[in-house]
Amino acid sequence: MTPEQFDVAIIGGGAAGLSAALTLGRSRRSVVVIDAGMPRNAPASHMHGFLSRDGFPPAEMLQLARKEVAGYGVRLLPHAATTVRGDVESGFAIRTGDSIEVTARRIILATGVEDRLPAIPGVREAWGRFLLHCPYCHGYEVRDRPLAVFGGLPGAIQYALLIREWTSDLTYLTNGVTPSDDESRTLRARGISVRDGRITALLTDGDRFAGVRLDDGRTVAADAVFMRPTSRPRTEFVASLGGALSPEGFAHVDPSGRTTIPGVWVTGNLVDPRAQVITAAGHANAVAMDVNSALVGDDTQTALLTLD
Ligand SMILES: Cc1cc2nc3c(=O)[nH]c(=O)nc-3n(C[C@H](O)[C@H](O)[C@H](O)COP(=O)(O)OP(=O)(O)OC[C@H]3O[C@@H](n4cnc5c(N)ncnc54)[C@H](O)[C@@H]3O)c2cc1C
Repeated sequence: MTPEQFDVAIIGGGAAGLSAALTLGRSRRSVVVIDAGMPRNAPASHMHGFLSRDGFPPAEMLQLARKEVAGYGVRLLPHAATTVRGDVESGFAIRTGDSIEVTARRIILATGVEDRLPAIPGVREAWGRFLLHCPYCHGYEVRDRPLAVFGGLPGAIQYALLIREWTSDLTYLTNGVTPSDDESRTLRARGISVRDGRITALLTDGDRFAGVRLDDGRTVAADAVFMRPTSRPRTEFVASLGGALSPEGFAHVDPSGRTTIPGVWVTGNLVDPRAQVITAAGHANAVAMDVNSALVGDDTQTALLTLD
């Protein structure tokens, strides 16, 4: 069977991928969005910080977005893409796990990141509910309550100073990495208490957080814990197409989101793991315009050749 052809294939249909699809669909491009359906914020029941949608359930937002883009003729394939081959001259072929193949003139990768959570009992259950990563997303909801910071990770002291703005009742859990004298002084100056010891479990009791268990057997009471995990960008397709990556696995991009592979762009958390939904969607909107400009260039070249 001949694969269906599109101007643009977008891999990843979270906020970034769907935002790019909206702009390209409205630019009258034929677009397919291939999405495995596991957005990063899926564990959170509410999404904050998106103007006019503050507090909205993230899954509902994506459902509305899918409906909007479908209204402009965008094809939605609810599958994981498994391979991407080809180049900008001959076109790209994308295959899904269900052996569907489509071809496209340009590719936008919006596959997001995978947060690396520590292998500690209770962490997965608490993630996005009581174990929070972003105070701008969920800090206000737990303001002025007893909170803790999961320490011992890169940048954790600075992160604790940030969280301190949302509560005066904050405990820094060293998780076995004792702060330096300077760091201890800084934490003390901001009224942040420090608890030594390794974290052995996060305790969730139904709809309530029951605290953090340490290796001395004691439990630190808190209503929520903030932790900034490291994130792995899903740049496998950049790598398989021969694109340049940083040592951390992020694609080398120019300000328009173009990778070093002609015809392939990246957007959303894949470019910036700290981007919130509004930022990811905004970046993707700009990327989509750049992709459309590239296609205008192609179309013009083809028309000129026909004229000759
Ligand atoms: C717990 C939590 C809560 C958050 N809360 C907020 C909040 O309140 N407000 C806020 O602004 N931000 C919040 N964020 C950040 C928010 O999740 C990101 O800003 C947003 O998800 C980035 O959108 P994205 O489209 O780049 O990536 P994602 O939303 O992660 O979407 C990527 C999509 O690509 C798909 N995908 C991956 N690989 C493939 C493949 N091979 N083939 C097909 N599809 C693929 C994934 O399944 C997913 O659907 C939160 C993050 C976390 C972790």
